[in-house]
Amino acid sequence: MPAPPSVYDAEPIPKAAQTEINGMLETGDLFRYTATDESPAALLEREFAAALGSRYALAVSSCSAALFLSLRALDLPGGARVLIPAFTFAAVPSAVVHAGCVPVLVESKSNYRIDLEDFESKLSLDVAAVMISHMRGHTSDMDAVMSLADARGVPVIEDAAHSLGTKWNGRNIGTLGKIGCFSFQSYKLLNAGEGGMLVTDDSEIIARAVIMSGAYEHNWKKHPVLHERFAHWQNRLPLYNMRISNLSAAVIRPQIGEIPRRVRDGKRNHDYVASRLNESSWLHVPSPLPAESRAPDSIQFNLLHFSDPEARAFQNAADRRGVKVQVFGLSADNARAFWNWGFLDQTPDLPQTRAMLMRACDVRLPARLDRSDCDLVASTLVKAAEYVKSPKTAATDR
Ligand SMILES: *Cc1c(COP(=O)(O)O)cnc(C)c1O
Repeated sequence: MPAPPSVYDAEPIPKAAQTEINGMLETGDLFRYTATDESPAALLEREFAAALGSRYALAVSSCSAALFLSLRALDLPGGARVLIPAFTFAAVPSAVVHAGCVPVLVESKSNYRIDLEDFESKLSLDVAAVMISHMRGHTSDMDAVMSLADARGVPVIEDAAHSLGTKWNGRNIGTLGKIGCFSFQSYKLLNAGEGGMLVTDDSEIIARAVIMSGAYEHNWKKHPVLHERFAHWQNRLPLYNMRISNLSAAVIRPQIGEIPRRVRDGKRNHDYVASRLNESSWLHVPSPLPAESRAPDSIQFNLLHFSDPEARAFQNAADRRGVKVQVFGLSADNARAFWNWGFLDQTPDLPQTRAMLMRACDVRLPARLDRSDCDLVASTLVKAAEYVKSPKTAATDR
C-alpha cells in the first residue's frame, strides 16, 4: 500500500496576496491605521461581514483575542460566571479567565456536542454569558441553546474558530449568537498564520470592541460604523492592542472566495472517510444534527469497545502506518482535555466528557486531498483498529 498523504501541509496562498504584499513591502504601509481608509484590514472587515451577512466585523490578532474582547465588550462584572462546553480548546477557558470571569464547564456528549440537560441546569446558576464553542465544527443544537439563553436574557458568544462555512438551518454559524469569533490560524479554513475576527450586529458591542482592540485616539473614525457610539466610549475603555496587521489581512482577503470550494471538498472528503470508518465495527463517526450543514477539515470518530491500552495501541498502529491520530484524552498535556487546564481554580468532575475524550480520535483531513488519499487514510485507520481488536484477520498485515 502506498504511504498515506501528509495531512499537515497547507494549501498555497492565492497569487493575488503576493501582488498586494509586494506593494506593501515597497511602501512599508503595514499598520492598519496609517491609511485614511480602505486599508487591507478595513477591506477584509467589509468583505468578511458581507460574506457572513453580519452588520459589523472587527479583525484582530487571533480568535482568542476576539473571544476575550467579546467578553469585555459585554461589560460583564468581575467574577461573572460564563458557561463553556467542557470539550473545547484551552483558549476558551483562558479567554474567560483573562477577562476576569469564571468558566463553568458543561458536559459534552459522545457526539461532541453539549449535553443540553446539563446546560439548562447550569444556566440557572446565575450565569452572565454563554460561550458556545463549536469544537472542530461540531454544532450543538443552536435552536435549544439560543432559546434557553434568550429566555434568561443571557448573551451567547459563538466560538466559531473552526466552523467557518458551517450552517445551522441555512444560517451561517457565528451569526446566531450576539457575537461570533473566528480564527485565521493556519489549521483553520482561512490561513494567515495568525489572525481572528469578531462579528456582531450590535453597534454598542462593536464600538467597545473596536476601541479596546487598539483604535486609540481617533482611529475609530476609520471604521465605517456608528460614530456617536465610538465618541461615547473614547478614552473610557482600556486599550489591549490586539489589532491585525495589513500583511495578515492581505493574506486572508483572496481566500474568502475560496470558502465555497474548501467547504465542498472538505465535506466530500469527510463524508467519504466517515462512511468507510462506519463500516468497521470498531469505529464510529457520529452523525451531524439534522439542522447542521458541516464544513469539516478534519474527522473525529470514537473507538468502540476499546480499553485504554487498546486505544493507545490503535494510536501507535495508525502512526506506524503513516496516519497521525490524536485521542484527545490520551496524549500527554493535550490542550483539549479539561483536566489539563491547571489554571482553573479546580478541575470539575465531568465523567461524560472524560469518557468521550478517552475514546474520541482526531485526524486532519484537508480539502486538498483526493479520493485515493482519502482511501489510504480510511484503510489505514480501519486496519489499525483490526490489528488491535481482531489480530487474526489482520495477521498478515502488521
Ligand atoms: C483554533 C481555535 C481557537 C483559538 O484560535 P486562535 O486564533 O489560535 O486564538 C479557539 N477555539 C477553537 C474551537 C479553535 O479551534
